[in-house]
Amino acid sequence: MKRISILGSSGSIGTQTLETISSMKEIVKIDGLAVGNNIKILQHQIKKFKPRAVSVKSVLAAVKLKKWCKTNNVRVAVYSGQEGLIKLATMTSVNLVVAAVVGAVGLNSTVAAVKAKKDVAIANKETLVMAGNYIMELAAKLGIKILPVDSEHSAIFQCCNGEKKSQIKKIILTASGGPFYKYKGDLSKITISQALDHPTWKMGNKITIDSATLMNKGLEAIEASVLFDVPIEKVEIVIHPQSIVHSMVEYVDGSVIAQLSNPDMTLPIQYALTYPKRIGSKIKPLNLAEIGKLEFYKPDFNKFPCLNLAYFSAKKGYTMPAVMNAANEICVNAFLRGAIKFTDIAKIVKNTILAHKVLKDKSINVFIKADTWSRDYANNLIKKGTL
Ligand code: MG
Repeated sequence: MKRISILGSSGSIGTQTLETISSMKEIVKIDGLAVGNNIKILQHQIKKFKPRAVSVKSVLAAVKLKKWCKTNNVRVAVYSGQEGLIKLATMTSVNLVVAAVVGAVGLNSTVAAVKAKKDVAIANKETLVMAGNYIMELAAKLGIKILPVDSEHSAIFQCCNGEKKSQIKKIILTASGGPFYKYKGDLSKITISQALDHPTWKMGNKITIDSATLMNKGLEAIEASVLFDVPIEKVEIVIHPQSIVHSMVEYVDGSVIAQLSNPDMTLPIQYALTYPKRIGSKIKPLNLAEIGKLEFYKPDFNKFPCLNLAYFSAKKGYTMPAVMNAANEICVNAFLRGAIKFTDIAKIVKNTILAHKVLKDKSINVFIKADTWSRDYANNLIKKGTL
């Protein structure tokens, strides 16, 4: 029996995880659910899954929720803030934590889960970009499994089953290309709604914008390098518009192993929950004859400069990926509120990383410090309008 806490249960991955679990009640029990501000969704989830504890972002929301529990005769412990996330990540009864919050805010709770010897199914790629080596080293030392939920990384994980890491020649990370892969117009004129219209995946706003700039693929390249312990130079990106091949691994003998399925997050989520077992799922069976053709293209690093920024940051290492990630979060928010243009995202991230001097200390605080510095720096660039 897996007893789990889901951090970020109202988001895209969180709700899909709960949907997946609905058909796995004999093997998975929900003990903890954490959301940001989405109390309404949390109330539904409490009724349906009866967790022991929940957490919300603010103290005020926690007070409201406690009142609701009393009125509705619901018994559940209510926590709030970072402490709440950490509480849910470290509950004695829990043996697997699904880290599905968006952004760097997920770092502390993920680290706390690993330290409390919980396996982590990780959907929060920003945490791995920010302090991935630290987390992986800690997990290895404590014998904890970090299980990827991202579809590409789940694919790579499956392609690596039973293989020696030292025999990996390269990882081939597939990308749908996002909404602007074939766009010939001026990217600086892209509107918010154009950028939010992803061709294959329905996801939250942050990751959808990241998919449009291809920063998502840059973050995923770093995530792959961290999770599978290969240098960033061995991670290659290929555009694959059909999103059927979820990624591949090439071995030293020239064999390339791929994982394929129709695009459906149920599969990587379920595999992270049931690993090392496989169980039946409701996903649409793959019919290659019906699909007809699978295409692959080189990504355009000039059109999508965020890819260059990600590889540059990964090569610099230490605190640089954390700085890039934080600046990107600030820029995506600024774009979503109409404060900057689509193409300003890469410009501001670039200017922020160029201004950063890497800190070589390996403590977790140093990554948090770099993250804070970067947010301030990027925010200042936006405020001053000097991109
Ligand atoms: Mg992905």
